[in-house]
Amino acid sequence: MTKAIHVIRNVETIVVYDEKTGTHAYLSDGDIAFDDNAILHVGGPYEGPFEREEQGRGRMLLPGFVNIHCHSDEEPLSKGIFDDMGTAALWGQAMYEYSTLIEISEEAREASLTVMLGDLIRSGVTTLVDIAGPHDAWLPTLAKSGARAYAAPGFREARWHVEASHRLEYRWDHARGREAYERALACVDAAGAHPSGRLGGIVSPSQVETCTSELLIEAAAAARSRGVPITVHAAQTMAEHEELVRRTGQTAVQYLESLGILDDNLILGHCIFIDSHSWTRQRHEADMALLATRGATVAHCPVTFSRSGMILESIGRYRRAGINVGLGTDSYPYNMLEEMRRALICARIAGKTVFDLKTADILDMATLAGAKALGRQDIGRIAVGARPDFSLVDLNHPAMQPVYDPLRNLLHCAAERAVEAVYVDGRCIARHGRLLGLDYDAAVQVIREASKFTTSRIAANDPRGRSLSELAPLSLPSKRLSDR
Ligand SMILES: [Zn+2]
Repeated sequence: MTKAIHVIRNVETIVVYDEKTGTHAYLSDGDIAFDDNAILHVGGPYEGPFEREEQGRGRMLLPGFVNIHCHSDEEPLSKGIFDDMGTAALWGQAMYEYSTLIEISEEAREASLTVMLGDLIRSGVTTLVDIAGPHDAWLPTLAKSGARAYAAPGFREARWHVEASHRLEYRWDHARGREAYERALACVDAAGAHPSGRLGGIVSPSQVETCTSELLIEAAAAARSRGVPITVHAAQTMAEHEELVRRTGQTAVQYLESLGILDDNLILGHCIFIDSHSWTRQRHEADMALLATRGATVAHCPVTFSRSGMILESIGRYRRAGINVGLGTDSYPYNMLEEMRRALICARIAGKTVFDLKTADILDMATLAGAKALGRQDIGRIAVGARPDFSLVDLNHPAMQPVYDPLRNLLHCAAERAVEAVYVDGRCIARHGRLLGLDYDAAVQVIREASKFTTSRIAANDPRGRSLSELAPLSLPSKRLSDR
């Protein structure tokens, strides 16, 4: 049986993969032909058989983005609550004292995931790694979205507890951690065996310091035996860095190396506070060389961290050291193009020079580096034999005008506004910002309702019982009409 072949003719700009340089290049006025499995032709006029044909004038065809680190769960519900907060004694990080108070009702999980998927896909994401807690709707919803998705079910043995806003404590429950680990492995296996063929699993100990070294070693062996990646948040905050130094005398990178886990199938979430970061004040520099030698990947998510006043120092430096740096969006706003823009800006601020990173480097990170992290050579590129995962950008969109360099305009100006359609496995999964496989608008209504539960639980979840308005005063004072 012949597969349905789709051809797009005279695409104004195709961002093609150049085998010789191992990176992307512009190709003008080319044809592309693909079926539901692979790109069959990219280049001059396509003269083979086809079932569907369309014109590509006024369009840029861009490889689909690979987001190697994001969280569904309660993250879409945490929008706008604790953005101005932080624990001063924990280097201003809000995660331990504030973000832990956000709770999601079981019924809202599917909607929360749908909102995340919609936001990511409309910004050109075709492959994503969702690090979350397993639930019944997880794999079915990921599959229905039409995206290529990796489920990374988190597990940990310790929970964070902040006492009196200054001390981070770890409350250990090994039995519960073990149970979560077993559930996670079953979920990884189910994702890998999913009939859609577009899902995969990743072993995901949640944080380097909330699992024992025994469990980390076991998890790494489980990932290796399954041939899947492993991901763990590591070197993500100063509090974690100090805790590991106190426990082991090592940085997160050196600790993972000592456990034999630092490898080319490991994705380190964030990896900001390494020994050469200006905040850690270590007296040696070994981490970058270790990361590069072992071929591990850093999942860089600049938006959430820069929002808290933290920055990786710098992407250009990591890349020049030979480290594979991929991109993730972590939490809201789940906009890959905005993440790419912020990554470029943060690199230039941290590197103290415009030369730290180029626009082309950011595209490499959002595509090829992500693919490499997942051990794949068939995504993140437009080349014959690769998966037909791409987006079509409207070069005539007002926000793109005037066009000299379309990639720069997309990243620095138009972002997702100019993304017209997103394809995975040759099938359109979003058009004009609307998901075709999931009901995004209905999901938004569900999370609007669900936020009432979330905000109502905050005081009960706070160890000191503070109210929401005490914990997160509004950004502007409230005036009554009678005050005027
Ligand atoms: Zn994360």
